[in-house]
Amino acid sequence: MDMEPYKHDQRCPVCGSKAKVRDLTERDAYYIECDDCGTFELNDMICSGDISEKYRLRSCLYYYFRQNKDAFSTRKIVPQITDIEPGKEADLTRFYLVYLKEVSVQSLLQLFPQNISDRIAMIMVNLGNKVKYFGNTFSIEYNKDEPSYYPLFFLDENYGAETIKTQFDEMLRILKGHHLIAESNSNLSCYKYKLTLEGWALIEGYQKSKQNLPQGFTAMWFADEMKPAQFAIAKIVQECGYMPLSIDLKEHNDQIVPEILFEIRRSEFVVADMTGHRGGVYYEAGYAEGLGKPVIYCCREDDFKNMHFDLKQKSTIIWKDEVDLQERLKKRIEATVGKRQTS
Ligand SMILES: [Zn+2]
Repeated sequence: MDMEPYKHDQRCPVCGSKAKVRDLTERDAYYIECDDCGTFELNDMICSGDISEKYRLRSCLYYYFRQNKDAFSTRKIVPQITDIEPGKEADLTRFYLVYLKEVSVQSLLQLFPQNISDRIAMIMVNLGNKVKYFGNTFSIEYNKDEPSYYPLFFLDENYGAETIKTQFDEMLRILKGHHLIAESNSNLSCYKYKLTLEGWALIEGYQKSKQNLPQGFTAMWFADEMKPAQFAIAKIVQECGYMPLSIDLKEHNDQIVPEILFEIRRSEFVVADMTGHRGGVYYEAGYAEGLGKPVIYCCREDDFKNMHFDLKQKSTIIWKDEVDLQERLKKRIEATVGKRQTS
């Protein structure tokens, strides 16, 4: 069984709900407005399913969009999902009165659960989002509805596309067996489930313990001369198992927009490159420190003399060139937040 076709029937390529889908031929991308996932731009390659990790990726997208919810209605910056590796330049232009922030496929895949207990918890979070309230049910009509639930279940195509249905059935059996979901008014052709008290408690516990995404936010000066450093940082953050994210403020006249604070709040750590000594970067680093997030300070050697006195006391990576920055940043991330194991 394959992902549902959507291209011209106006369905969200991630969750399958009805959505407004605009074909942006000039950008090789789709601009999607889905009531459940929010607004986002998706690179054509991903939409056409022409990538090897489509089930994993679709699950990661599904989960990622639902962690975005509180910023939904007012957001001016929407994720642009690309298959461009960090270190390459994406086309982040202003579009439909929104700004785009680049999130790469490789980076999103870091969200895929690393062990069975995370996987079960994340599936339950998805199911909780789906049924929304205590007592509500979700129903699966036999041999018909299963594929629409696949994105909720973190199925892994690395075991072969033919195993997807088996994985799904087994996971459903496990959830039932552990009393996280219970059948409710099922009949022969249609299963109805509701989440049990244990199920809701698991969701609550997981959400309390995992308030962050495995994300490393970069605050820096977005001048052209800093591009190589920006890419170097993104590359290392990803190599360490985290999702790199930076939001270029040039278009906003260097104003701190709410989206940036939101992204810092849900990051594991922040890399703050002080080169250029922009007020915004100092502000973002201070904001992150105030939240108790690890902040890794960096500064290009020739500009360190201009660093604000208070911050000169901090242990800072004073780098000569991008190669130097990469090597030392990698060691620093490993020493402070640790390298994440990825599946
Ligand atoms: Zn959707």
